[in-house]
Amino acid sequence: MRILITNDDGINAKGLEILKAIALGLSPDVWTVAPETNQSGTSHSMTLHSPLRLRAIDERTYAVAGTPTDCVIMAVRHLLKDQPPDLILSGVNHGSNLAEDITYSGTVAAAMEGTLLGVRSIALSLMMGFEEDGKRTAFWETALAHAPSLIRMLIEAPWRPGTLINVNFPDVSPEKISGITVTRQGVRDQNLLNIDSRSDPWGTPYFWFGFERRRSTLVEGTDLSAMADGKISVTPLSLNLTDRDAFAALEQLVAR
Ligand code: MN
Repeated sequence: MRILITNDDGINAKGLEILKAIALGLSPDVWTVAPETNQSGTSHSMTLHSPLRLRAIDERTYAVAGTPTDCVIMAVRHLLKDQPPDLILSGVNHGSNLAEDITYSGTVAAAMEGTLLGVRSIALSLMMGFEEDGKRTAFWETALAHAPSLIRMLIEAPWRPGTLINVNFPDVSPEKISGITVTRQGVRDQNLLNIDSRSDPWGTPYFWFGFERRRSTLVEGTDLSAMADGKISVTPLSLNLTDRDAFAALEQLVAR
């Protein structure tokens, strides 16, 4: 089995090193194509208006000066075009990709692109700890311990074209994982986006976008709730964004 690994945190990210170890536990045929720099929050963007640079690090490891989507395209359609990957793994992201995070996530977008190119794709993210002192605990060993058997199970399952899988690991040590649960994409009950406005030495304003870290009210069966329960969350996502609930109401409306 040929596996492509990528991420949005960049070629030097700790999570990519963890993912490589996970992938090598599944197959010796592992290829890495990841962004040169941190591309978190770039979602499904691709580079269309500037040339793309590809840097070979070793025979099976490449960095692309572009987005996660660029990386997947370069890998599947250029580097590995004679023998495309059987599986794409994206991550392990530094931070969870839950609820509406999915719409911003470069980690999930790499799996979307893989799916569009006809390759089964899984996004993997690790929740960072909520600590009072602002310190964030990263339990990389939790992903390392639990991802291989989970991925093995997922690739055995029937897989619809157009479906990708979003996996999140909670911020607990490996032995504290209380199971695996299939979840729905949750909804946060608050908008946590902050705009930090500052001033440069010349008095010109500049801004930082950031997200406040607060727990949402938990709805059972969602990805958010799985994290609070110390469970590994597995959410099947569809590339088709049609809102089925709104469909009938709109159809009635236009038929009037
Ligand atoms: Mn990221």
